[in-house]
Amino acid sequence: MLVLTGLLALGFFLMVRRLGGAGSPMAFGRSRGKMYAQEDLGISFDDVAGIDEAVDELREVVEFLRSAEKYQVLGGHIPKGVLLVGPPGTGKTLLAKAIAGEAGVPFFGLSGSDFVEMFVGVGAARVRDMFQQAAQKSPCIIFIDELDALGKTRGSSVVGGHDEREQTLNALLVEMDGFGSNSGVIVMAATNRPETLDPALLRPGRFDRHVLVDRPDVRGREAILKVHVLNVKLDPKVNIEQVARITSGFCGADLANLVNEAALLAARNNKKSVGMVEFNEAVERGTAGLEKKKRVIHEDEKKRVAYHEAAHALVAYSLPNTDPIHKVSIIPRGLAALGYTMQRPEDDRYLLTQSELESRIHVLLAGTIAEEMVYDDISTGAQNDLERASEIARSMVMDYGMSQLGRVNYRESQRSPFLTGGGADFGATRSHSEETAREIDEEVRRIIDTSIVQVRQILQNRRTSLESITSRLIEAEVIDGSDLQDIIETTNGKPQLVPGTTAERRAGATQTPSDRENEPPADAANQ
Ligand code: ADP
Ligand code: MG
Ligand code: ZN
Repeated sequence: MLVLTGLLALGFFLMVRRLGGAGSPMAFGRSRGKMYAQEDLGISFDDVAGIDEAVDELREVVEFLRSAEKYQVLGGHIPKGVLLVGPPGTGKTLLAKAIAGEAGVPFFGLSGSDFVEMFVGVGAARVRDMFQQAAQKSPCIIFIDELDALGKTRGSSVVGGHDEREQTLNALLVEMDGFGSNSGVIVMAATNRPETLDPALLRPGRFDRHVLVDRPDVRGREAILKVHVLNVKLDPKVNIEQVARITSGFCGADLANLVNEAALLAARNNKKSVGMVEFNEAVERGTAGLEKKKRVIHEDEKKRVAYHEAAHALVAYSLPNTDPIHKVSIIPRGLAALGYTMQRPEDDRYLLTQSELESRIHVLLAGTIAEEMVYDDISTGAQNDLERASEIARSMVMDYGMSQLGRVNYRESQRSPFLTGGGADFGATRSHSEETAREIDEEVRRIIDTSIVQVRQILQNRRTSLESITSRLIEAEVIDGSDLQDIIETTNGKPQLVPGTTAERRAGATQTPSDRENEPPADAANQ
């Protein structure tokens, strides 16, 4: 009898415990038995490779977490929310954990997609619960993976406005605003679709620090492979550099997977260590698998993309009135772009001159013209370039009066659709005749054709530079502005004015050749 009462009491006690002390608003979240904190993950920056820029940007966060008290006393600006942006599998989660590891602080992890199918209210309660736990364990890191699953622009859902996701998002915003920047809690989040995020998340005091975690280049891939081969028994004859070379387009997770696959193959082949044969086979398998999912470029395609991007960069460098080149890359990015040339405007621009617009067209056309010169035919990769070049040329003719048709604006559709009575057809009102329309088309063509001739000339004059940039790109996959300058200068090229351009006509009288050499390779667009 006594025993029985004891059991009953125990049962009752456990039941109450499971219900989690009813009444308290926190009980609901905690009652689900969710413990978020992970301590001592055993991950450090040594485990993260090939994304050095991102790591360097985040050292400050580690420093802050390590000596939070020092900062708390002194004040100063400490990041509260850090958003890691980059394609899947590039090591964002790994990086967040490594920061916790380096700083020796607890790591609270949660994934945005966990909330998608939850009952209303549960997600918000969890977020509040987690922040409360974190406050008690400060300094620490809260990491929200797949922030986009949770933080999509509010009101974008098809069914009603108050779904679970929105409530959770609101709770997150409230919590982030609620604690001071010196509380010692750093909120990190990861996303591969930053453009879908609710702008409220990106405001100052929330996720206002953005760190790009990009796909690794050749050297990065080598470094990542070196981290992962530590876990397998490697044949000393394996050439990791060679493996890095043939894995263009692979991200960190793909490479980790590759090493694992090679080890499994070696085991299947009854080998004592993992050899080059296994790596080659694993790469082949990996590539075949990846091809279905995303772009992995083949050697010949890579070469073509390298010529294309090298030409954009070379022409941009060669013209005096273009933005400086920041980076040229042939690492595929997303589905559309096989490579890209990034230019960085020196300062904000509100006005562009005719010669600057012409230069932009030159730069845009350069890629396809180089392909034509080298291969005698062009590829479909240039569609976007052509679209943009034509659009600029059309604006020059129709909007800015920068053509032989004179200083007339031929675009009448700029008026608000409300004034013209409904937005059925914005471009409908046209004040010019069929004849003029034809002339406009001819002018646009003339601008493009003239540009093609000039660009071809630049590329022919600088063929040596084009070849050098191309081979460097194939080798390194990414080159920055100063590398580019070195390559071009050693192949004897300086910025120059192209004969027959507006810039050259104007400069003709006033500028001496030595002046031109001192001119910086100025501004422009990209792709
Ligand atoms: P993400 O969060 O960006 O999708 P993860 O951090 O989840 O990528 O990466 C998955 C796994 O891939 C990691 O656990 C690690 O084994 C490997 N990995 C990814 N990126 C790297 C990297 N930069 N260095 C070393 N390993 C990496
Ligand atoms: Mg992740
Ligand atoms: Zn292009």
